[in-house]
Amino acid sequence: MTTFLALGECMVELSEAGDGLYRRGFAGDTFNTAWYARRLLPETWTVSYGSCAGEDAVSDEMLAFMEREGIDTSTMRRLPDRTVGLYMISLKEGERSFSYWRSQSAARMLAEDLTWLDGILKGREMIHFSAITLAILPQKSREYFCGALARARARGAIVAFDTNLRPRLWDSPQAMRDGLEMGARTSDIVLPSFDEETDLFGDAKPEDTVERYRALGADLVAVKQGGGDLVLWQRETGHGRVPPEHVPQVVDTTAAGDSFGAGLLAGLARGEAPIDAARGAMRLAARVIQSRGALVPEIFKDHGGAS
Ligand code: ADP
Repeated sequence: MTTFLALGECMVELSEAGDGLYRRGFAGDTFNTAWYARRLLPETWTVSYGSCAGEDAVSDEMLAFMEREGIDTSTMRRLPDRTVGLYMISLKEGERSFSYWRSQSAARMLAEDLTWLDGILKGREMIHFSAITLAILPQKSREYFCGALARARARGAIVAFDTNLRPRLWDSPQAMRDGLEMGARTSDIVLPSFDEETDLFGDAKPEDTVERYRALGADLVAVKQGGGDLVLWQRETGHGRVPPEHVPQVVDTTAAGDSFGAGLLAGLARGEAPIDAARGAMRLAARVIQSRGALVPEIFKDHGGAS
């Protein structure tokens, strides 16, 4: 059995459904990636989500949802004195805005018990995390977390890092830069977005972004540019560019990057060349942004899937 493990925070999502009613869902960047990976990887793969939840009813519901979606939750730690984080999507004149209640969420305890963390990382072929996973951890725990990933990598796991920037979760731009570099240093695969890298590091072109992560030890860097070319670099095959899919109407870009990451990693896991895995990932992300919401099950209704 081969295994894919995503680590981070899955939250309760409340989205406005009219008349003061809210629809409850569960989402979070790395969880979204796990959800897409589950649909793209063969049944011989186990897809697990590693995080912490409470022991209350909503935590039970979150884990039951994950299991129903085919995601293994034996890598979830339950904490009696915490619960899961929550965010609410409000709609005002068609514009979405987000409010968060996550500062005390159970997921922040992800790296407090290193024996448990080392245990769930053991024997994984592919491990995925993001800068949000790092941002929610206290500074010391961030270092412990990356140390545990480095040990898993030394044992042979392929570690992938999505640089998803959320400035509000970091103390300062410098803390965010340091966090990104720490995450990248423990990773084989880095998935940055060029606009964020320009803002934070002043990169003039995507190749500058590639160069920085290559220098930190990555073997593969895929620089996303929304509706622009993907700039791909891999240690053995060098640079490549993949043009975007044509999208007639962008409906909702939520989870574009999360689904892209799942598409790329699943393609690589299936043994595809990086450029082919990237093409499949872009086809998937292009379909995701033509529907509302982070998780789009309709894409997988026609067998053959998205890639
Ligand atoms: P992130 O959400 O991580 O910032 P991007 O916005 O760059 O990432 O989007 C991730 C991927 O989604 C892109 O690499 C591309 O494949 C696809 N994508 C996003 N926006 C568009 C678009 N307007 N047209 C076609 N593909 C898009």
